[in-house]
Amino acid sequence: MNSDTLVNLQVGLAPYEQLNQIVEHSLCIGCGICESMAGVDTVQMQLVENGAERPIANKGLSQQTMNEITSVCPGTKIEGLPAKLISDDSKLDSVWGVWQDLYLCHAARPSVRHLSSTGGVLTGIALYLIESATVDFVLHAKASIENPAFGEACISRTREDVLNAAGSRYGPTATLKDIVSVLDHAEQNHHTFAFIGTPCDVSALRNYAKLDSRVDELCIAMMTMVCGGFMAPSGLKSFLQTENIDLDKVTSLRYRGYGCPGPTTIQTIDGITHQFTYLDFWGEDDSAWQLPPRCKICADGIGDAADIAASDTWDGGSPTVEQQENDLGTNAAIVRTAMGRKIMDDAIEAAYLVRGSNLTPDDMNRFQPHQEAKKRSVWARFKGIHEANQMVPDTNNLRIRQLHEENTTEQNQTQQSGTQQRVLAGKFSEPTPKSIKT
Ligand SMILES: Cc1cc2nc3c(=O)[nH]c(=O)nc-3n(C[C@H](O)[C@H](O)[C@H](O)COP(=O)(O)OP(=O)(O)OC[C@H]3O[C@@H](n4cnc5c(N)ncnc54)[C@H](O)[C@@H]3O)c2cc1C
Repeated sequence: MNSDTLVNLQVGLAPYEQLNQIVEHSLCIGCGICESMAGVDTVQMQLVENGAERPIANKGLSQQTMNEITSVCPGTKIEGLPAKLISDDSKLDSVWGVWQDLYLCHAARPSVRHLSSTGGVLTGIALYLIESATVDFVLHAKASIENPAFGEACISRTREDVLNAAGSRYGPTATLKDIVSVLDHAEQNHHTFAFIGTPCDVSALRNYAKLDSRVDELCIAMMTMVCGGFMAPSGLKSFLQTENIDLDKVTSLRYRGYGCPGPTTIQTIDGITHQFTYLDFWGEDDSAWQLPPRCKICADGIGDAADIAASDTWDGGSPTVEQQENDLGTNAAIVRTAMGRKIMDDAIEAAYLVRGSNLTPDDMNRFQPHQEAKKRSVWARFKGIHEANQMVPDTNNLRIRQLHEENTTEQNQTQQSGTQQRVLAGKFSEPTPKSIKT
């Protein structure tokens, strides 16, 4: 069996129905690249019934554009680091992928470290790249103004812009909604840029680079966070309900930052500020984290295709009560490519980042047991989805079949049949996307 046989694309559908099917089979992560590729008059990201943002296509969507979307969408296509970016001296770990350097790291300035989600590595890199004029701008995400629980794409050209976007957005975030216009703009102005997004965003952008050579020409590097998945809008809503907070009255929501992880801070229209600790919000062992189905079958939460990936460094994956109050914040930096290494070395040299001790993939397994477990079980989960006759992402160079073979038969059967049953029970289904805007 190869990955292609697991795809299960349904034939005989019109192009707009094929796009709907990606949503209906719970594979859409809401990155928005399909809107940018098809044009907003043909595909538009909109708020839908389940509280997420989904693409709504009209009958003008051509088969050629839909084929291109299928080859780019991180719901249907996920690949590891492009071969041309793997150096002879790169190391390879079956769980953590290709790496050149792996070490503890944090932003040099205490204020940046404090403001950011973990230790400010991603913010520190963005600041370095802009202030050293290595790039003209950084495309990443900040808190959405219209939907305060969401993130939205933003372009940073100054220190102030970068700092304004620091912190993790755990709500839906269509970071790639305008990527084609961003490339048009960069090309016209002879600008280069760097990209920071989730591993899904990086997958989509790497896939899109195969169709549009400007990605590799103009985007000098792609950075990501190690990502266990975002909070499904229904999960946020039920948390707010238990706290008697009306989602419609929320005016701002900061998930993390101002410490590591820092408080989750929610402001409401009546001027009240509600603060929760990380463990209040996510639960002990992240048990309150309600993941969308797509995140439960994620084949790449570790940013396999990024130049640099940054993660948290708490043993066991969550802070203790003591850590959530006192941790200054330190990232693990997984440096995968020669460009990633150059950027990190230069940012350290220029005193934007501070390098700590070296790490090993075993340390990463200790910090991220949920990522290791998911990487090891995802192929069995794919098989369960396939058996239930739903679409499965086409994957390549993510080592997930190799890891599947390292598991016991019993482990794989449990994962496969559990997923199959959940699919058959309708837990991997979403309604055909319809805008809730009237
Ligand atoms: C959905 C989600 C799940 C995560 N799961 C894990 C996990 O399982 N394990 C783990 O170790 N860490 C996880 N993190 C990452 C962690 O919260 C930190 O983001 C990471 O350690 C980088 O920290 P930092 O201090 O360098 O980030 P910062 O310096 O605060 O910079 C964050 C950067 O990421 C960008 N950004 C934030 N959210 C988004 C988004 N949703 N889409 C696109 N760009 C965004 C911002 O624009 C900013 O440039 C997750 C983050 C997210 C958003």
